Amino acid sequence: MARYNSFTSEEISAELAAVNAAYQGFKAKGLKLNMARGKPSAEQLDLSRPMLEVLGEEANLTSSDGTDCANYGGLSGIPEAKQLLARLLNDDPENIIAGGSSSLTLMFDAIARLWTFGTEGNAPWGTLERVKWLCPSPGYDRHFAICETFGMELIPVPLTDEGPDMDMVEQLIAVDPSIKGIWCVPQYSNPTGIVYSSQVVNRLASMACAAPDFRIFWDNAYSVHHLYPQHPVQVADIAAACVAAGNPNRYLKFASTSKITFPGAGISGLAASPSNIQEALKVMGIQMVGPDKLNQLRHGRFLSTDEALQNHMASHGKLLAPKFQLVDRKLSEGLKGTVECSWSSPQGGYFISFEAPAGTAKRIVALAKDAGVQLTGAGATWPYGQDPKDSNIRIAPSMPPLDELDQAMDVFVTCVKLAALEQLAE
Ligand code: PMP
Repeated sequence: MARYNSFTSEEISAELAAVNAAYQGFKAKGLKLNMARGKPSAEQLDLSRPMLEVLGEEANLTSSDGTDCANYGGLSGIPEAKQLLARLLNDDPENIIAGGSSSLTLMFDAIARLWTFGTEGNAPWGTLERVKWLCPSPGYDRHFAICETFGMELIPVPLTDEGPDMDMVEQLIAVDPSIKGIWCVPQYSNPTGIVYSSQVVNRLASMACAAPDFRIFWDNAYSVHHLYPQHPVQVADIAAACVAAGNPNRYLKFASTSKITFPGAGISGLAASPSNIQEALKVMGIQMVGPDKLNQLRHGRFLSTDEALQNHMASHGKLLAPKFQLVDRKLSEGLKGTVECSWSSPQGGYFISFEAPAGTAKRIVALAKDAGVQLTGAGATWPYGQDPKDSNIRIAPSMPPLDELDQAMDVFVTCVKLAALEQLAE
């Protein structure tokens, strides 16, 4: 079929009627399918069930440094957990704080500390008239929500295939000391799946910042989440680049096992310079006596070697890859040649980023919802939920079984066509 935007108005009306009939057919089925959030599937969660047996009734609950994991203490985490997190964060265990079940909590708390206490003798951010933050977009809605909650001004920066638009980043941060940080999901980014190039990593590490306390929040949530483990990718290390550039305190790295073991019952980690780690521990020691070291022990023993982690992630990849391939095939078969659109084909991570015709994303998501398919809200991938082109939709294919995903994608494709035709018919 020819491109919709080369259709005559009669052809548009006829196609609109046909696609609308198909859409009504889906609506009548009363479907209830969810592609809204990047949750692992039931089969993926089952991969980690053996971990629950690691600490049986007879298990030794003492960590390798002699800490009794069942008791108070061990503020920065146990060696077994730091070892695992060091693999995820591409860092040394001694630079790591092993935390609780959520890396988002570590990110929120890091900002809260900078906000309340400041860093390296600089004014606490909360005392400043204005604090701004760079948000490569499309990006992760929960990152943006943290900054919004603190009342920061969010500045969208285009995300290219190599990372944030560095010309724009460098221009902005060189002159404006109220810009205090940037979000980065450097590998298999949420939602486009891109991996930062080494050049971008080096520019981030070495750029001249007007703010002496500028921070790169390096959320490497998908560092080992390869769809095709035979072709693994590893983004260049921001810590090494910052140290080499003479800015050793500029970065804070985050990761968790949420999408390795159990989201909500995993472990998280922060890696940073000795000075940043000391500052964090000082406040964390007031917040708590110590983290959940039994869960840390469970994780450390379950994924105790590079090989164990690689095998475990390969099993995840095996379950996930067919879902990503199905989405790609459905979009190609359903939309190529007719609708002006594009989508990402990531090699890892949890999302596919779909670019619909400008001005149709909200309509597509609403149509899908009415037909029983829940998608991430249109606009969610932009600061303040405002996608200037109203074109980006995040597809999260991990959770539904393949047969449900197949149906959900038929509905999605039909909604994209319908919204595109409605726009042309206006
Ligand atoms: N960062 C990114 C980029 C994510 O995509 C997610 C989960 N969707 C998280 C953090 C959440 O991590 P956690 O469960 O460790 O809080």
